[in-house]
Amino acid sequence: MPEGHTLAALARDLHAAFAGTTPTVTSPQGRFAQGAARVSGRPFVGATSRGKHLLLEFGDEQWVHVHLGLIGTFTVDAGDWTAEAPVTGAVRMRLATPEHVADLRGPIVCSVLTPEEVAAVLARLGPDPLRPDADPERAWQRIHRSGRSVAELLMDQAVLAGVGNVYRCEVLWRHRLSPTTAGRDLRPASWSLVWDDLVRLMPLGVATGRIVTVEEQVLEVEAALGRGERPRLTRRTSSVYKREGLPCERCGSRIRARLVAGRTLYWCGRCQRRR
Ligand SMILES: [Zn+2]
Repeated sequence: MPEGHTLAALARDLHAAFAGTTPTVTSPQGRFAQGAARVSGRPFVGATSRGKHLLLEFGDEQWVHVHLGLIGTFTVDAGDWTAEAPVTGAVRMRLATPEHVADLRGPIVCSVLTPEEVAAVLARLGPDPLRPDADPERAWQRIHRSGRSVAELLMDQAVLAGVGNVYRCEVLWRHRLSPTTAGRDLRPASWSLVWDDLVRLMPLGVATGRIVTVEEQVLEVEAALGRGERPRLTRRTSSVYKREGLPCERCGSRIRARLVAGRTLYWCGRCQRRR
């Protein structure tokens, strides 16, 4: 499933391609035909993301709400579309101008919302580490009262928006936290470290299109971005994710895997042992 950094990058690309234009909106597949008719020909105000939710604002306070779910994709292509771009696959929604075409396929949500409905969607979401205005205290208020494990809580979008399975596994490993620790047993200092780390790591995901959590690479990417260069990722980018059975790079113990909150959790049984 795409994590928050993917949606943030997508919002950035859609905004760059369409903000200030008046795209033609269609539903080649037909399932969004009514919604498309409501927003087509209206000015495209902008695109934003919150966690895994994408919001496209059109003129007269019309919003299109998109959630990609597990298999959805949204591609943005530049080109001279004076002739109509060919349709490949089941395109739920297409935005088209003479310069760009964006095709949405396989989302679990694609609907037109009123501003009140947008507010209701946002109210259900926890803070998003990618947003400068996010308040980690809102997440902590839920975490420190919860008997659920941190591995479950980090995946709960009402607690924290945008974090998915890869960031969950990696951030717990980076701070030697046992995934089975209950939220109410987590120390405030540990939560601060986790939050600050997500705030540091997730923008690197937006910038590179990859989840980068191995410290050596994190430093390289930060340095490249600081120099205004495009970071090159040539090596492994995760420490525990999808590394079941391999030795932990910190302690040599075997990386374990188990299903938690519907997704496979990877962790080191030794250096993330419960304290
Ligand atoms: Zn280890």
